[in-house]
Amino acid sequence: MLHTIAAFDRLGEENAFAVLARATALAHQGRDIVNLGIGQPDFKTPQHIVEAAIKALRDGHHGYTPANGLLATREAVVRRTLTTTGVEVSPENVMILPGGKPTMFAAILMFGEPGAEILYPDPGFPIYRSMIEFTGAAPVPVPIREQNGFAFSADETLALITPKTRLLILNSPANPTGGVTPRAEIEKLVKGLEAHPHVAILSDEIYDVMTYDGETHFSLLNFPQIRDRLIVLNGWSKTWAMTGWRMGWSIWPNDKGAHLYDKVRKLAVNCWSCVNAPSQYAGIAAIDGPQDDVEKMMRAFDNRRKIVVEGLNALPGISCITPKGAFYAFPNVSKTGWKAKKLASALLEDAGVALIGGPDFGILGEGYIRLSYANSEENILRALERIETFLKK
Ligand code: PLP
Repeated sequence: MLHTIAAFDRLGEENAFAVLARATALAHQGRDIVNLGIGQPDFKTPQHIVEAAIKALRDGHHGYTPANGLLATREAVVRRTLTTTGVEVSPENVMILPGGKPTMFAAILMFGEPGAEILYPDPGFPIYRSMIEFTGAAPVPVPIREQNGFAFSADETLALITPKTRLLILNSPANPTGGVTPRAEIEKLVKGLEAHPHVAILSDEIYDVMTYDGETHFSLLNFPQIRDRLIVLNGWSKTWAMTGWRMGWSIWPNDKGAHLYDKVRKLAVNCWSCVNAPSQYAGIAAIDGPQDDVEKMMRAFDNRRKIVVEGLNALPGISCITPKGAFYAFPNVSKTGWKAKKLASALLEDAGVALIGGPDFGILGEGYIRLSYANSEENILRALERIETFLKK
């Protein structure tokens, strides 16, 4: 009998991938499936970014790169951070990793162990809780409420901090709700955190520029008083439609004795060595090149967002607040008479619409479903029609 450690049995999943597999299997059986399940842009990576990767390969960039990323790529992240936040960070604090998830993995591993508590958003990206449980730390859900526009509540978050709290995970704009936490609430939260210097903060800002209706994201980088315990997660996946390239970056503190940056660099040496060079050259082109494709994509998301919200609110038993960021709608389905997960599964099997049940994002996800509007307007309208027919049956 082989013996594996219990931590692996505590690892969770991202159900979006299971739904994608089931939707693909049904499509192979000849079923017509509209997929609003997966959280990735339906656009291709802009061509000039693809060309930069091809050029890097042709130029012979085939070997290992530094574990923390090419200096040129880290410097590109410095420029991008200055543009989007107004904050100047040092390339010495920037780490290039294979996607956004490895930052989560590294930060949670660094602070999680039995006896520790880690605060994470609920509903939220499912990997936070999964990784916390992997480390043996206690996951402490921070409620993200519809009546609060799916923003963080500073008071509720601060009330959950104990002497055992090691890490607080924040995410705005948020998956799965599309919520954007207002600047004033973030300021209040940071003010409160000053009384808890033992708490590190992981701010997942991967949807930072994906906001609507004039809403803007306010980065935690704006607060020098927490910079020595702040880790900012970001990456190329969503903004430049590069989910499959596995390119992410994070900004780490580099001082005050904890040497977090050096710890994550060492983890990289041990786990993945480095990120492949062509992707890193593509990453530079993404940041420094024209942003027209990004703007076009955001205009398309904005139009679809309006169609989804209007369409959902016209359905019996469903209400949907207008998401201010990312590319998800998180409608309340509690008045349909269906449990959320059952509804999601019935919609896939019977109506051919793939989406995710809210409980896959946490305890407070009951009563909701998540639709990704990273799909064509035509497909979104087809999905809405099918949901309507299904609910009226
Ligand atoms: N953080 C959030 C909130 C996400 O929604 C996702 C992807 O869905 C990630 C991080 C992970 O991004 P990546 O695909 O770059 O690992």
